[in-house]
Amino acid sequence: MKNIWGILFIAIVMVSCKEDQAAMENETKEEIAKIEAIEKPAVIKYGFNLDEFTVQQDTVRRGDSFGELMLDNKVEYPKIAKISKEFKDTFDVRRIRVGKPYTILKSKDTTETAQVFIYENDLINYTVVDLRDSVLAYTDKKEFKYVEREVSGVIETSLSEAILDQGIDYAVTHDLANVYAWTIDFTMLQKQDKFKVIYKEKYINDSIYAGAEPIEAAYFEHNGKPIYAFAYENDSLKSIVDYFDEGANNLRRTFLRMPVEYGRLSSRYNLKRRIRYYGNRIRAHRGTDYAAPIGTPIMATADGTVTESTRRGGNGKYVKIRHNGTYSTQYLHMKKQKVKRGEFVRQGDVIGWIGMTGNTGGPHVCYRFWRNGRQVDPLKEELPKAEPLAETLQPKYFDYIDPIKDQLDCMLYPEKPLAEDGDLLTLNQ
Ligand SMILES: [Zn+2]
Repeated sequence: MKNIWGILFIAIVMVSCKEDQAAMENETKEEIAKIEAIEKPAVIKYGFNLDEFTVQQDTVRRGDSFGELMLDNKVEYPKIAKISKEFKDTFDVRRIRVGKPYTILKSKDTTETAQVFIYENDLINYTVVDLRDSVLAYTDKKEFKYVEREVSGVIETSLSEAILDQGIDYAVTHDLANVYAWTIDFTMLQKQDKFKVIYKEKYINDSIYAGAEPIEAAYFEHNGKPIYAFAYENDSLKSIVDYFDEGANNLRRTFLRMPVEYGRLSSRYNLKRRIRYYGNRIRAHRGTDYAAPIGTPIMATADGTVTESTRRGGNGKYVKIRHNGTYSTQYLHMKKQKVKRGEFVRQGDVIGWIGMTGNTGGPHVCYRFWRNGRQVDPLKEELPKAEPLAETLQPKYFDYIDPIKDQLDCMLYPEKPLAEDGDLLTLNQ
């Protein structure tokens, strides 16, 4: 009986996924038909209708100067002089660089006089020199377009390989590892672990790739255990976006394991540490030391407010953070602090750099951890989970994730080429 229900359930899921797809295909067909019915749209670029001009596109070559380019295109000298004098702050004509693309929009009559000159400062920003009537120069930005992208994979060797093999930006791998940093140990991934990711890619002028946006939703199956992740704004005042699972539990834990990304645990919390220097006296060490090279970034292990950022005696330069009514942390011997008293910091934010200020024999951070005003050993504490999504936000959250969860569930894993298939193997070589 149980099995039948299982099969029925799978059948329902498959049908709903297929129906969605069929509906989507129909929609696309209708859309194409609509577009064909409309006349060819005007080509608007840099805010100009290109159909109204003769367009010349080129890149700045060695020896080119703005003045000469303009004279060649029948712009009178006084106009060129006016640009270089009056619009120096917007467009410094001496600063045009070899290899940068530019566009000249010319009149469509026989004179082909330059009307507008457009210089591309970088992929996004451009400068317009309008030579019609009285001259004018201004800068503007190209429009972005966001394209939603779905990626899925089955791990054979490593997560990064499974993603990079599909030609996906490395940033997505990095981002996915961060989303699951507290729930999955990425050094322990298993063959056949699976993942699905939904995110957006940014494009300029519809064609130039300009990077991946943060992950919107993900699914990771580790050791057969599925974990969903949905990005959601937890605190609109501080615009904090966290990842929550399908039950609105935060995927984050309140504290990072240590305040440096790479560091060696050089001395643990120890109430009976003997220090020979003081005549073999017992002197408690209430901190946890992580040794790392000078200049290594030190991170806040949890969200909180900086209560101290100062230099004092043996502590050297240090930062103290109050996380909530229960927990505070402190970071000693910094080379330099990066935050000020009163500042709100997020978990993982850099708050200073490893140094040797105060009493210390070598570069390290002494990490101190308070629970209810008493210093304790963070490595022995059972650290709390980050708070779930506020109950008042939950109904809206569940409405929001409902269709996205369906979308994740309907995504298929890429088909693996069969090893027996000789043709495919030759293709790969
Ligand atoms: Zn210490």
